[in-house]
Amino acid sequence: MTTRASSSARQPLVSLAPRQWRSLMDELGRRGQGTREAGAFLLASLPNSRRVAHVEYFDDLDPMCLRGNIEIEGHAFSKLWDICEAKKLTVIADVHTHPYAVVQQSSIDKQNPMIARDGHVALIVPHFATRRVRPRHVGVHQYCGDGGWASWFRRDAARRLSVRRWT
Ligand SMILES: [Zn+2]
Repeated sequence: MTTRASSSARQPLVSLAPRQWRSLMDELGRRGQGTREAGAFLLASLPNSRRVAHVEYFDDLDPMCLRGNIEIEGHAFSKLWDICEAKKLTVIADVHTHPYAVVQQSSIDKQNPMIARDGHVALIVPHFATRRVRPRHVGVHQYCGDGGWASWFRRDAARRLSVRRWT
């Protein structure tokens, strides 16, 4: 668990409006049915926005990917890149659920970033998103390249994952 000066506490890494957040949590819970992990990519406008403009669920890209854990085939990524190009968006983060309260990364999570790009954010949501989830319950992990991650939890996570009305 490390923190990096590169991420200022005032500038969230990922920002969603409350309605978007509720719908994301509802969808992840529904798709995982309380028994398996589910997830999504979070896309924002180019070049530097941290506001989520579009959510693309893993199982819409690859209907077979929710197998308890998540295994996304390569063809799903070509669909994702097509969506990015068509909508002029970029993937800023991914989110996936874990079964219990633990929102630390598994060793598989650490070794296999969904997008191995410096600064990419991986959010981990507890309890298969079947309970009410607030940002402070989420694990916020940022890929730093070379297999390294910075991770934040509780209040530090909530500072980096903003769920607020956009002004
Ligand atoms: Zn995981």
